[in-house]
Amino acid sequence: MATTRTTASTSPNSCADIVTSGSAPVDPAGVAERLREVRERIARAGGSRVAVIAVTKSFPPEAVLAAIAAGADGIGENYAQELDAKASVVAEAKGSGCPVHFIGQLQSNKVRVVSRHADVIQSVDRPSLIAEIARRAPEVAVMVQVSPADEPGKGGCDPAEVPALVDTARQAGLQVLGLMCVAPTAGGIDAAGPHFAMTRALVDRLGLEHCSMGMSGDLEVAVREGSTMVRIGSALFGARG
Ligand SMILES: *Cc1c(COP(=O)(O)O)cnc(C)c1O
Repeated sequence: MATTRTTASTSPNSCADIVTSGSAPVDPAGVAERLREVRERIARAGGSRVAVIAVTKSFPPEAVLAAIAAGADGIGENYAQELDAKASVVAEAKGSGCPVHFIGQLQSNKVRVVSRHADVIQSVDRPSLIAEIARRAPEVAVMVQVSPADEPGKGGCDPAEVPALVDTARQAGLQVLGLMCVAPTAGGIDAAGPHFAMTRALVDRLGLEHCSMGMSGDLEVAVREGSTMVRIGSALFGARG
Protein backbone atom coordinates (compact mmCIF):
# COMPACT_ATOMS: atom_id res chain seq x y z
CA MET A 1 0.00 0.00 0.00
CA ALA A 2 0.99 3.59 -0.67
CA THR A 3 4.41 2.60 -1.92
CA THR A 4 3.85 4.00 -5.40
CA ARG A 5 3.75 7.63 -4.31
CA THR A 6 5.97 9.73 -6.53
CA THR A 7 4.98 13.32 -5.87
CA ALA A 8 4.86 15.64 -2.93
CA SER A 9 1.18 16.33 -3.41
CA THR A 10 -0.27 13.12 -2.03
CA SER A 11 -1.90 13.08 1.38
CA PRO A 12 0.62 13.34 4.19
CA ASN A 13 -1.17 10.60 6.11
CA SER A 14 0.76 7.79 4.51
CA CYS A 15 4.14 8.90 5.87
CA ALA A 16 4.54 5.85 8.01
CA ASP A 17 4.34 3.76 4.86
CA ILE A 18 6.88 5.90 3.12
CA VAL A 19 9.55 5.65 5.76
CA THR A 20 9.69 1.92 5.38
CA SER A 21 8.62 1.60 1.76
CA GLY A 22 10.50 -0.27 -0.89
CA SER A 23 13.60 1.82 -1.50
CA ALA A 24 16.85 -0.08 -1.91
CA PRO A 25 19.27 -0.22 1.04
CA VAL A 26 21.42 2.88 1.33
CA ASP A 27 25.02 2.53 0.16
CA PRO A 28 27.05 5.35 1.77
CA ALA A 29 29.92 5.14 -0.73
CA GLY A 30 27.42 5.33 -3.59
CA VAL A 31 25.78 8.40 -2.08
CA ALA A 32 29.19 10.08 -1.74
CA GLU A 33 30.01 9.27 -5.36
CA ARG A 34 26.67 10.60 -6.57
CA LEU A 35 27.08 13.79 -4.54
CA ARG A 36 30.37 14.36 -6.35
CA GLU A 37 28.55 13.85 -9.65
CA VAL A 38 25.88 16.38 -8.64
CA ARG A 39 28.58 18.90 -7.77
CA GLU A 40 30.19 18.27 -11.17
CA ARG A 41 26.86 18.87 -12.91
CA ILE A 42 26.56 22.16 -11.01
CA ALA A 43 30.08 23.19 -11.98
CA ARG A 44 29.50 22.30 -15.65
CA ALA A 45 26.36 24.46 -15.60
CA GLY A 46 28.49 27.36 -14.39
CA GLY A 47 27.59 27.25 -10.72
CA SER A 48 29.99 28.05 -7.94
CA ARG A 49 29.07 28.06 -4.28
CA VAL A 50 25.73 26.35 -4.85
CA ALA A 51 24.59 24.50 -1.72
CA VAL A 52 23.32 20.95 -2.16
CA ILE A 53 20.43 19.99 0.10
CA ALA A 54 20.05 16.20 0.21
CA VAL A 55 16.32 15.41 0.08
CA THR A 56 15.81 12.28 2.14
CA LYS A 57 12.02 12.01 2.08
CA SER A 58 10.81 8.42 1.73
CA PHE A 59 14.35 7.13 2.34
CA PRO A 60 15.34 5.46 5.60
CA PRO A 61 17.33 7.16 8.37
CA GLU A 62 20.54 5.69 6.94
CA ALA A 63 20.12 8.05 3.97
CA VAL A 64 20.40 11.02 6.33
CA LEU A 65 23.57 9.58 7.85
CA ALA A 66 25.03 8.87 4.40
CA ALA A 67 24.29 12.44 3.28
CA ILE A 68 26.01 13.88 6.37
CA ALA A 69 29.04 11.65 5.86
CA ALA A 70 29.23 12.59 2.17
CA GLY A 71 29.31 16.28 3.05
CA ALA A 72 25.89 17.49 1.91
CA ASP A 73 25.22 21.13 2.81
CA GLY A 74 21.86 20.31 4.37
CA ILE A 75 19.12 17.73 4.70
CA GLY A 76 15.64 18.24 3.22
CA GLU A 77 12.46 16.58 4.44
CA ASN A 78 8.85 17.04 3.26
CA TYR A 79 6.55 15.50 5.85
CA ALA A 80 6.15 16.44 9.51
CA GLN A 81 5.49 12.90 10.65
CA GLU A 82 8.41 11.44 8.74
CA LEU A 83 10.71 14.16 10.09
CA ASP A 84 9.58 13.34 13.59
CA ALA A 85 10.17 9.63 13.00
CA LYS A 86 13.75 10.42 11.96
CA ALA A 87 14.38 12.62 15.01
CA SER A 88 17.60 10.95 16.13
CA VAL A 89 19.42 11.07 12.79
CA VAL A 90 18.09 14.55 12.17
CA ALA A 91 19.58 15.63 15.49
CA GLU A 92 22.84 14.14 14.32
CA ALA A 93 22.67 16.23 11.15
CA LYS A 94 22.20 19.42 13.15
CA GLY A 95 24.96 18.39 15.53
CA SER A 96 27.39 17.96 12.67
CA GLY A 97 26.67 21.34 11.16
CA CYS A 98 24.34 20.03 8.46
CA PRO A 99 21.18 22.14 8.78
CA VAL A 100 17.76 20.57 8.39
CA HIS A 101 15.41 22.17 5.86
CA PHE A 102 11.68 21.51 5.78
CA ILE A 103 10.59 21.74 2.13
CA GLY A 104 7.06 20.26 2.06
CA GLN A 105 3.65 21.86 2.28
CA LEU A 106 3.05 22.75 5.88
CA GLN A 107 -0.17 22.96 7.85
CA SER A 108 -0.08 25.47 10.70
CA ASN A 109 -0.86 22.77 13.25
CA LYS A 110 2.35 20.95 12.25
CA VAL A 111 4.64 23.94 12.87
CA ARG A 112 5.27 22.81 16.40
CA VAL A 113 6.56 19.36 15.53
CA VAL A 114 8.47 20.56 12.46
CA SER A 115 10.23 23.33 14.37
CA ARG A 116 11.52 20.83 16.90
CA HIS A 117 13.70 19.41 14.14
CA ALA A 118 14.11 21.96 11.35
CA ASP A 119 16.53 24.88 11.18
CA VAL A 120 14.89 26.31 8.08
CA ILE A 121 11.33 26.16 6.73
CA GLN A 122 11.50 26.75 2.97
CA SER A 123 7.82 26.35 2.18
CA VAL A 124 6.37 29.49 3.75
CA ASP A 125 3.53 30.75 1.60
CA ARG A 126 0.93 32.59 3.71
CA PRO A 127 0.64 35.09 6.57
CA SER A 128 -1.04 32.63 8.97
CA LEU A 129 1.92 30.27 8.66
CA ILE A 130 4.35 33.13 9.31
CA ALA A 131 2.41 34.10 12.43
CA GLU A 132 2.47 30.54 13.72
CA ILE A 133 6.23 30.15 13.12
CA ALA A 134 6.91 33.50 14.80
CA ARG A 135 4.82 32.43 17.79
CA ARG A 136 6.13 28.89 18.18
CA ALA A 137 9.63 28.95 16.76
CA PRO A 138 11.05 32.42 16.10
CA GLU A 139 14.55 30.93 15.91
CA VAL A 140 13.68 29.00 12.75
CA ALA A 141 14.76 30.76 9.54
CA VAL A 142 12.30 30.89 6.68
CA MET A 143 12.18 31.05 2.91
CA VAL A 144 9.12 32.14 0.95
CA GLN A 145 7.95 29.65 -1.66
CA VAL A 146 6.91 31.14 -5.00
CA SER A 147 4.50 29.16 -7.17
CA PRO A 148 4.17 29.53 -10.92
CA ALA A 149 1.48 32.16 -11.47
CA ASP A 150 -0.87 29.79 -13.28
CA GLU A 151 -0.54 26.79 -10.95
CA PRO A 152 -2.04 27.77 -7.61
CA GLY A 153 -2.97 25.37 -4.86
CA LYS A 154 0.12 23.17 -4.76
CA GLY A 155 2.04 25.14 -2.19
CA GLY A 156 3.73 28.44 -2.79
CA CYS A 157 2.28 31.91 -3.12
CA ASP A 158 1.58 33.99 -6.17
CA PRO A 159 4.70 35.93 -7.27
CA ALA A 160 2.82 39.19 -6.68
CA GLU A 161 2.41 38.34 -2.99
CA VAL A 162 6.09 37.66 -2.35
CA PRO A 163 7.27 41.16 -1.31
CA ALA A 164 4.47 41.54 1.23
CA LEU A 165 5.09 38.08 2.68
CA VAL A 166 8.82 38.75 3.04
CA ASP A 167 7.93 42.00 4.80
CA THR A 168 5.46 40.27 7.09
CA ALA A 169 8.03 37.64 8.06
CA ARG A 170 10.69 40.25 8.77
CA GLN A 171 8.30 42.32 10.84
CA ALA A 172 7.41 39.20 12.80
CA GLY A 173 11.11 38.93 13.68
CA LEU A 174 11.93 35.97 11.45
CA GLN A 175 15.14 35.68 9.49
CA VAL A 176 14.26 35.43 5.78
CA LEU A 177 17.00 33.50 3.99
CA GLY A 178 15.53 33.80 0.53
CA LEU A 179 12.97 32.36 -1.85
CA MET A 180 12.24 28.80 -2.91
CA CYS A 181 10.44 27.49 -5.96
CA VAL A 182 9.57 24.29 -7.76
CA ALA A 183 9.32 24.29 -11.56
CA PRO A 184 5.83 24.22 -13.08
CA THR A 185 4.39 20.75 -13.60
CA ALA A 186 3.12 21.68 -17.04
CA GLY A 187 5.42 22.58 -19.91
CA GLY A 188 8.37 20.37 -19.05
CA ILE A 189 11.91 21.62 -18.75
CA ASP A 190 11.18 24.59 -21.04
CA ALA A 191 8.72 26.02 -18.54
CA ALA A 192 11.25 25.80 -15.72
CA GLY A 193 13.65 28.46 -17.02
CA PRO A 194 11.23 31.41 -16.98
CA HIS A 195 9.92 30.50 -13.52
CA PHE A 196 13.45 30.20 -12.16
CA ALA A 197 14.46 33.51 -13.78
CA MET A 198 11.43 35.27 -12.29
CA THR A 199 12.23 33.85 -8.83
CA ARG A 200 15.86 34.93 -9.07
CA ALA A 201 14.79 38.45 -10.13
CA LEU A 202 12.60 38.66 -7.01
CA VAL A 203 15.49 37.49 -4.81
CA ASP A 204 17.66 40.27 -6.21
CA ARG A 205 14.96 42.91 -5.99
CA LEU A 206 14.31 42.09 -2.34
CA GLY A 207 18.00 41.88 -1.46
CA LEU A 208 17.78 38.30 -0.25
CA GLU A 209 20.66 35.87 0.02
CA HIS A 210 19.35 32.55 -1.21
CA CYS A 211 17.47 31.25 -4.18
CA SER A 212 16.48 27.62 -3.59
CA MET A 213 15.66 26.08 -6.95
CA GLY A 214 16.65 23.04 -8.95
CA MET A 215 16.00 19.34 -8.34
CA SER A 216 17.54 16.18 -9.80
CA GLY A 217 15.93 16.67 -13.20
CA ASP A 218 16.34 20.41 -13.70
CA LEU A 219 19.35 21.50 -11.68
CA GLU A 220 21.30 22.73 -14.75
CA VAL A 221 18.46 25.06 -15.76
CA ALA A 222 18.19 26.33 -12.18
CA VAL A 223 21.94 26.92 -11.83
CA ARG A 224 22.06 28.79 -15.13
CA GLU A 225 19.23 31.00 -13.88
CA GLY A 226 21.06 31.80 -10.64
CA SER A 227 20.21 29.15 -8.07
CA THR A 228 22.26 29.26 -4.88
CA MET A 229 20.75 26.10 -3.40
CA VAL A 230 19.57 22.93 -5.13
CA ARG A 231 17.39 20.27 -3.49
CA ILE A 232 18.44 16.82 -4.68
CA GLY A 233 16.76 13.51 -3.87
CA SER A 234 16.67 10.83 -6.54
CA ALA A 235 20.05 11.73 -8.08
CA LEU A 236 21.63 10.90 -4.71
CA PHE A 237 19.50 8.07 -3.38
CA GLY A 238 17.78 6.53 -6.40
CA ALA A 239 14.10 6.35 -7.26
CA ARG A 240 11.66 6.75 -4.38
CA GLY A 241 9.81 3.55 -3.52
C1 LIG B 1 11.10 15.71 -3.50
C2 LIG B 1 11.51 17.13 -3.62
C3 LIG B 1 12.78 17.48 -4.11
C4 LIG B 1 13.79 16.47 -4.64
O1 LIG B 1 13.33 15.94 -5.85
P1 LIG B 1 14.26 14.96 -6.76
O2 LIG B 1 13.62 15.04 -8.09
O3 LIG B 1 14.18 13.62 -6.14
O4 LIG B 1 15.63 15.51 -6.74
C5 LIG B 1 13.10 18.82 -4.13
N1 LIG B 1 12.24 19.78 -3.70
C6 LIG B 1 11.02 19.47 -3.23
C7 LIG B 1 10.11 20.57 -2.79
C8 LIG B 1 10.61 18.14 -3.19
O5 LIG B 1 9.38 17.86 -2.74
